[in-house]
Amino acid sequence: MTECTERSPAIVATDVSRIYQLEGVSVPALRGVSLTVEPGDYLAIVGTSGSGKSTLMHLLGGLDRPTTGTLVIGGRDVATLSAPEMARLRNETVGFVFQSFHLLARTTALDNVALPLVYRGLGRRERRERAMAMLQRVGLAHRMNHRPNQMSGGEQQRVAIARALVTDPSVLLADEPTGNLDSATGQSILSLLESLNAEGVAVVLVTHERDVAARARRQIVMRDGLIVAGDPVSSAGWSSADTPEESSAPPSSVEAAP
Ligand code: ADP
Ligand code: MG
Repeated sequence: MTECTERSPAIVATDVSRIYQLEGVSVPALRGVSLTVEPGDYLAIVGTSGSGKSTLMHLLGGLDRPTTGTLVIGGRDVATLSAPEMARLRNETVGFVFQSFHLLARTTALDNVALPLVYRGLGRRERRERAMAMLQRVGLAHRMNHRPNQMSGGEQQRVAIARALVTDPSVLLADEPTGNLDSATGQSILSLLESLNAEGVAVVLVTHERDVAARARRQIVMRDGLIVAGDPVSSAGWSSADTPEESSAPPSSVEAAP
């Protein structure tokens, strides 16, 4: 676990910006965002494509650093950390789940899940035992020797969730985790995330779906690199302009609209 105690926030971003430099052009993806993730939180982030949601998730998880502002993860100001220290903080504090699963293609479910434990210096047998326990937790013990292309999308996402949890993180960051899944499978993934949250893991979820966001304890809406509604602003600022992707074409895999 991390240095942070039960009461201290898991992650605190204060007035963070992130400006990408692209061939001499500055792209201000975040323009001053403040957000606190508490232990055991359940927070949904919504907003149009390009509003900065993934950029914010990368910062919250220590995959990237802010251009300006301060970011404290597990009680540590990331500005003070070297790259290896950042990697270690990530490995100890957060788990990531992505829309497209990001599993190693030629690797079994068991070894995908065990991989983050390599960086913990655990022996192979203990890594596999812990990975097996996590696969059991997500209902996939019977798929341990399958490779990703031998599993359904929902199963692959369960493997990704098991991999995110095998290090016992205090925060799970899920960036559109149901975006490539049909709605029934998406519901079962959400239920899984919610049962993990009930066990005390803080969950930060990016979603396009308003009913999904409504299940979270807190919601924020992003637009143009800013938080425009929700905690701590006010949840009254929702507007249909903030979820236009609901009407755009789903990704190549099926989204069975009921
Ligand atoms: P969202 O997840 O809400 O769709 P992103 O955080 O991915 O938004 O992107 C926010 C803005 O930053 C967009 O204008 C996007 O094009 C830009 N952006 C994201 N990643 C990069 C990058 N690596 N380099 C340059 N620009 C980027
Ligand atoms: Mg995104």
